[in-house]
Amino acid sequence: MNEILQNYRKVSERIRRACENCGRRAQDVTLLLATKTVPPEKIRVALNDGASVIGENKVQELVSKYEALRDIPHQTHCIGHLQTNKIKEIVKYADCLQSLDRPELAVRLQKRLESEDKTLDVLLQVNTSRESSKFGIAPEHVIVFAKQVRQFDRLHIKGLMTIGLFAADIDKVRYCYRLLKILQEQLLDNGFAAHTLSMGMSNDLEAAIEEGATMVRVGTAVFGNRKYPDKYYWNEHQ
Ligand SMILES: *Cc1c(COP(=O)(O)O)cnc(C)c1O
Repeated sequence: MNEILQNYRKVSERIRRACENCGRRAQDVTLLLATKTVPPEKIRVALNDGASVIGENKVQELVSKYEALRDIPHQTHCIGHLQTNKIKEIVKYADCLQSLDRPELAVRLQKRLESEDKTLDVLLQVNTSRESSKFGIAPEHVIVFAKQVRQFDRLHIKGLMTIGLFAADIDKVRYCYRLLKILQEQLLDNGFAAHTLSMGMSNDLEAAIEEGATMVRVGTAVFGNRKYPDKYYWNEHQ
C-alpha cells in the first residue's frame, strides 16, 4: 500500500515538473488512474491521497469498482472499447466515455440517454498511430465525425483521446500527440468546446504534457505491472 502511495506521489511530481518545464500550470493537467485489474483497496490509497479520476477498460470492472468505491468522491471514465450491448451500464455509471469511436455507438447512446433523461460527456477516440490493432477514428475523419455527434444533443463532446504508438522512439510517440493537438485546434475552430486532450501514459507522460495533454492516463507507474498483456484490453479480436 505504501508503495502505491509513493508511486502516486512520484507520478504527481513528474506531472508537476513536466508542466514547469514547458511553462504550463500543474492544475491544468489531470491525472487519470488507469485501474484495469487493480483491486479497489489499492485504488482507494490513491483516491485518499488526492486522486480524483479513475479509468476502466471493461464495463464489468467499471461497475464493480464503482460500487466498491462509491463512498469516496471521484469520477469514473470508460477508456476501453465499448460494445453496444454494454451501453446501459455506461449511461448509469460513467462520468465520461473517452472511447467514442463510431457513429453507431453515438446513435445507441443517444437513444439510451433520452430514455433515461440523462446526458453524457464524451471524448472522441482517434487512432493517431493508424495501427490496425487500435480502435479509434482515422485522423482525417475527426471533424466529420464530430459534426455527426453534434446532432446528438445528449452527448457532450469534451475533447479527444488517443493511445499513442508503442515505440521506444519517443519522437514517433510524440508525433501522435502532436497530431491530436492539431485536431483539437481544428475542433475548437469549428466551435466545439473540445478542451480535453487525453493522451500520455506511464512511459511518455512528459512528452504528452509538452504537446498539450490536459489529462494523462497512468496505470503501471502507480500500481505496478499488470498480469495481462495490454492488447487484451485494446483489441477484442486478438
Ligand atoms: C492501461 C491504459 C493506460 C495506462 O497505461 P500504463 O502504461 O499502464 O500507464 C492508458 N490508457 C489506456 C486506454 C489504457 O488501457
